[in-house]
Amino acid sequence: MSNEQRFKERRRLIRLAGGSLLVGFPAHQAFAKPAGMTGFRLVQQDNVMLHFDVAGAVGDVSLFALENPHRLVIDFANTTLQTELPNHIYEHGVIQSVRSGKQDDGRLRLVVDLRGPVSATYQFVPRTYGQRLVVDLGVAGDLELATHSNRQIESARGALDRAARDVIIAVDAGHGGKDPGAIGQNNTREKDIVLSVAKRLQHRLSNTPGVQPVMIRDSDYFVPLRERLRIARSLKADVFISIHADAFKRKTAHGSSVYALSLNGATSEAAKWLANKETEQAALFGDVQLGGLSDTLKSTLLDLAQNATLEASLDLGGEVLSKLKQIGPVHKASVEQAPFAVLKSPDIPSVLVETAFISNLQEERKLRNPKYQDQLAYAVQEGVVQYLKRRAPQGTYYAMNRIDRG
Ligand SMILES: [Zn+2]
Repeated sequence: MSNEQRFKERRRLIRLAGGSLLVGFPAHQAFAKPAGMTGFRLVQQDNVMLHFDVAGAVGDVSLFALENPHRLVIDFANTTLQTELPNHIYEHGVIQSVRSGKQDDGRLRLVVDLRGPVSATYQFVPRTYGQRLVVDLGVAGDLELATHSNRQIESARGALDRAARDVIIAVDAGHGGKDPGAIGQNNTREKDIVLSVAKRLQHRLSNTPGVQPVMIRDSDYFVPLRERLRIARSLKADVFISIHADAFKRKTAHGSSVYALSLNGATSEAAKWLANKETEQAALFGDVQLGGLSDTLKSTLLDLAQNATLEASLDLGGEVLSKLKQIGPVHKASVEQAPFAVLKSPDIPSVLVETAFISNLQEERKLRNPKYQDQLAYAVQEGVVQYLKRRAPQGTYYAMNRIDRG
């Protein structure tokens, strides 16, 4: 944003019940132990509401609206964020996204990006752990929920569902651009088929509650293998699925296969990561400080992480393979393992799906068929969903549903 734009930005106070801008609790509490924001929830009743749960001594809270673009800013004095905010963009409705930032003076600032003006009111509701700030945007419920019919079916659980984050699934169409992949006897190019299947999978996943697909490539261009891993990581992918079509010199070879990383590939990759920069280790271990640890201990930690990832990858692969069995022949009855470079993220469960043999005349014809492409996408989607029902990352829709089911 340019300075000029910033200058033009007009602050507009929201109409607050009671007419006050500054809300909350006496300032003398501001020097107490920091309060913690332990929960955030987007709730759709008649209006769209935001719930902020604050544990501990709640300090001053101020709300104001900005225009150009429209957003609502809420500052909590002396408060730390102790919950995850939804990290995706709401495609429809008045709320576009929610983000946070720490101000120098210890204030926690939450910014709600809006698609239009709101007329917000608020109230505090005492809770056993502290206070809940309930902000009513004064705008009728219009969250993206309303546009997805399969989400509507689940709307009874609406508020809870939306509080949970989506599982992010990286969909990787193999090859692309200067790399056509394998080429069939009738000149079908692997890169075109797998992009089409990947897009169908993206479409299906975007209509699946609780998941959000992200594409590693979405048109015909080349992406180096290592770059695919980097993109997946930067998009915070929880799961990585690479789509390919197989080829073999024996033209009768046929059927789908699913691969996870081989143990050899995992071990050598772990060694490479260990030799790598601290930043990459940080990416893997998050907040855990590895600086003071011996190389042996680091290596053990890395092995543990990698083993858990591999086990999850094999599990995911098994689910996908069993769904593929329902739509056509498989090349091998169980998940295979190979040192494919795209499967080497040490902390993201990853599988590679060889949809069918493009080198087999009959399967080449099937691969060109949009209906078959969609069946493949369906099988992968179903496999992922089965996997997530058991193995969803914490804080996600699937994880919360699993907990609720006991
Ligand atoms: Zn390929």
